Amino acid sequence: MFNNKVVIVTGGSRGIGASIVKELANSGYNVVLNYNKSEDAAKQIKEELISSGKTVDIYKADIRNREEVKSLIEFTIKKYGKIDVLVNNAGISQIKLFTDISDEDWNNMLQTNLTSAFYTSQEALKYMIPKKQGCIINISSIYGTTGASCEVHYSAAKAGLDGMTKSLAKELGLSNIRVNSIAPGAIETDMNAFLTEDEKIELNKEIPLGRMGKPEEIASCAKFLIENEYVTGQVISINGGWNI
Ligand code: NAP
Repeated sequence: MFNNKVVIVTGGSRGIGASIVKELANSGYNVVLNYNKSEDAAKQIKEELISSGKTVDIYKADIRNREEVKSLIEFTIKKYGKIDVLVNNAGISQIKLFTDISDEDWNNMLQTNLTSAFYTSQEALKYMIPKKQGCIINISSIYGTTGASCEVHYSAAKAGLDGMTKSLAKELGLSNIRVNSIAPGAIETDMNAFLTEDEKIELNKEIPLGRMGKPEEIASCAKFLIENEYVTGQVISINGGWNI
């Protein structure tokens, strides 16, 4: 399968981002996998996909930094001449009492999980708007909607991302650019590796489907959002029924 579309996935080296990279590369998209620290993991994904005939590049950029984001976008434009899809996936989490969150914690959380999407979207839109074609997917979180105790800065950043999704969708609709959020529930990735087996059992009891989600279950939604051209401004929560 081959298609001509060019996709950038931030934080594609691990977890949900890595699954989105694989899902899209295996569906014939040309994928630029952005990573920051996990170079070995990024290289391994690239080798695996290239050996089966897929098109994948890897590009190191710290998405908290405007200049590094610019160079990621310019690399993609130089290679392909366009960006069809931007997936703002990279993110961090941190568990802390609100009263213990330092200025540095707060700023790093907002910079990584929200300001990064401002940078990437603004830089990519320079190329999408003139073509009147584009799709942006923001990976937010169920906590952006429900809030989470001891994750106030994380929840605030994700709520901000959902606000950005809806506002940008309104601003860009007539430019034929769609913007959506996927708000995952609890997904089995490194981000949740700190949970003990007992904590996982307790968590699963709160989820109607009785289990955490798999990264592939988020990736298939990303593909749907790229391919259905009448969905925009939505926050689609994939959470096993956790917040019905
Ligand atoms: P993960 O396994 O911890 O992976 C995080 C990814 O983000 C890595 O690829 C990492 O790249 C990248 N990243 C972090 N900081 C970066 C930076 N400054 N610049 C570039 N890349 C950076 O996390 P995950 O669970 O897959 O989460 C992916 C997204 O889903 C996040 O936005 C997260 O908030 C959201 N989410 C996850 C869950 C969940 O339960 N797992 C639930 C709701 C929402 P490097 O390792 O290369 O630095």
